[in-house]
Amino acid sequence: MSKSSFSTNELTEIIVGIHRLARNLWWTWNQEAQEIFHELSPRCWRNLYHSAVAVLREVSDYELRVRLQDQEFAQRVREVLRKFDAYLNEANTWGTQNAPLLHERPVAYFSAEFGFHETLPIAAGGLGILAGDHAKSASDLDLGFVGISLFYREGYFQQTINQDNWQTEHYTLLNPRNLPVEPVLNAKGEPLVCAVEIAMSQVYFQAWRVNVGRCPVYLLDSNRPENEQRYGDLTLRVYGGDSTTRIMQEILLGVGGVRLLREMGIQPSVFHMNEGHAAFLALELIREKLAEGKTFTEAIVATKEECIFTTHTPVEAGHDRFSPDLLTYALIKLQGQLKLTPSELMALGQVEAGSETEPFCMTVLALKLSRAANGVSELHGQVSRSMWHPLFPKKSVDQVPIGHITNGIHLLGWMKGPVRRFWKRKLGPEWERDVNSAEFWARMADSEFISDEEIWALRYKLRRELIEFSRRRLLIQGQRLTQGDFIAFDQLLNPDALTIGFARRFATYKRAPLIFQEFEKIAKLVADRQRPVQFIYAGKAHPRDDDGKRFIQHIIHLSKYTDLKGHLVFIDNYDVHVARQMVSGCDVWLNNPRRPLEASGTSGQKTGCHGCLNLSILDGWWREGYDGTNGFAIGDDSHPDSIEEQDRRDSENLYRILTEEVIPCFYARDAQGIPRRWINKIRRAMVTLVPQYSTWRMVQEYARKYYLTR
Ligand SMILES: *Cc1c(COP(=O)(O)O)cnc(C)c1O
Repeated sequence: MSKSSFSTNELTEIIVGIHRLARNLWWTWNQEAQEIFHELSPRCWRNLYHSAVAVLREVSDYELRVRLQDQEFAQRVREVLRKFDAYLNEANTWGTQNAPLLHERPVAYFSAEFGFHETLPIAAGGLGILAGDHAKSASDLDLGFVGISLFYREGYFQQTINQDNWQTEHYTLLNPRNLPVEPVLNAKGEPLVCAVEIAMSQVYFQAWRVNVGRCPVYLLDSNRPENEQRYGDLTLRVYGGDSTTRIMQEILLGVGGVRLLREMGIQPSVFHMNEGHAAFLALELIREKLAEGKTFTEAIVATKEECIFTTHTPVEAGHDRFSPDLLTYALIKLQGQLKLTPSELMALGQVEAGSETEPFCMTVLALKLSRAANGVSELHGQVSRSMWHPLFPKKSVDQVPIGHITNGIHLLGWMKGPVRRFWKRKLGPEWERDVNSAEFWARMADSEFISDEEIWALRYKLRRELIEFSRRRLLIQGQRLTQGDFIAFDQLLNPDALTIGFARRFATYKRAPLIFQEFEKIAKLVADRQRPVQFIYAGKAHPRDDDGKRFIQHIIHLSKYTDLKGHLVFIDNYDVHVARQMVSGCDVWLNNPRRPLEASGTSGQKTGCHGCLNLSILDGWWREGYDGTNGFAIGDDSHPDSIEEQDRRDSENLYRILTEEVIPCFYARDAQGIPRRWINKIRRAMVTLVPQYSTWRMVQEYARKYYLTR
């Protein structure tokens, strides 16, 4: 053996370390860690959608031992493990300095969905992604934090597009053995099993632990042999089934989540309901307090003290409402334990308590049983205060106790490889340390630090990666269709063209096809040989949203059968991976919701560190982020009452700003071929937006305003 090889003990330690690393999502925001798993089995990494755990099932420990004889590889593995351990063991953190009490009694954050990474597809959209980013930043800050959600065995659906350009949904069973989850065990080493009462039944559940850096997130799973089939299938799909399934999932999440925490000996100081789905947790807290001998009034007061609530949308369909019959049926046992009559229970979810016609609303329940509530941007705070004013009739609208904290994103989780490598070259291996600070990004204003040419080269690289990714995906999509009506895939999209991206859920208020209302004009723009423009679209419609599916159908139709062919593409099966390619590769990120319905929006926040500029309605976060120099605004800080008028005005303004500002600015090249003004906007976006619209800032705000104020 040469001097530099490892002893058997060292090797064993490294191999144990790699397995530990694979089961901690920390690797999803660390490039070098991902490279190790990729390198171990490139095919498995690709085919199992970047699952480190699956790679380690493919690669035997014997192979690992042999591979680690490659000194260069072994050195990198050791370095990653050193960094991982340093992260987990760091003593001097934001949390120890600012929130030590939360280490004793953590924040319990309940969310019906969590979006962490493409290997664990248990999120339907922005709400889940936000929850995942919240957890990652809670870990980075070392906040005492546990997450609670459900383990959806079939996850969220996979989208394909059929012959009629119609979205079809497919579900595949997730295999926990390939996922970064581990079963929660009891003292005997068996799965820990708890139960909740749903309708007349005891429903049993187990839990899976996801390690998000330092923070655990527990996923409740009703797939137990003790349960009847219909309860075993309760956690099959994200928001699956009808309102009966929905209310039962929410009982499991809220009531079951509290019971699991108690069973594990975790005593949270704050229960954070991320959206109304989780609000039944408050009923369980009341039940506990009654069982301890408190009166109902005392129990309510004490429960309110423990709970905070974040509302995420002004869209009506985003607020769960249940009929009295369904509520009484599903909660019959809990109602008895709370010693309430059916109408008293109903009243907890009604604006007008005792109303015969008003359904039970989870948002109302959450607002009634929390000590603080917030919307997710300044405008959304205002809108929520008006929306829920009837619940506080003695107060003026401004006094309605709903504040706001503007959403953000987990920066390192979204930052793509070329940008990371760029910073590493500039600042050395410890570059990540201050990545969330304003000082870090202030450098981008300095052309001594980074030249326009370097920024432009980076932009080209990122756009090239997106275009090649799109061609590859479209080729696979094309093979599923039979007609040979495609132009050669290598000619799809132009690597030099101004590339405009749009990707998000296809909820109709987001108005995906708005820009194509001026079809003739857009067709002219894409055909311009001097200043070409092209569009990349992606997004899923809710399985029961036929209007959203018609939007998809319309866009795909345009992309195949009109003059937009080759200049407009729709990438199917939008998820975190597709999102990462798009927010980094596009030049412009288009966002044209019907104001004020986009409570915050977060996809536009993922673009900043990649040098992609926002072109957006002044709604949600962009209304606060836009300063006249760091991107483009569609319209002004107002909107008409009539929807028709709004659609007409927004479409007009969008076309005007695109042709009068965006395109001329992008194509104003100097003698060196560089668009100086455009690059200046990129610099401004990085300086002003990136440090502000992060979950690093957001979670600190939650801590200061809500978690630490008991
Ligand atoms: C960021 C993100 C969203 C949220 O996008 P919005 O523009 O805020 O609606 C939805 N889905 C995925 C996969 C995302 O990454």
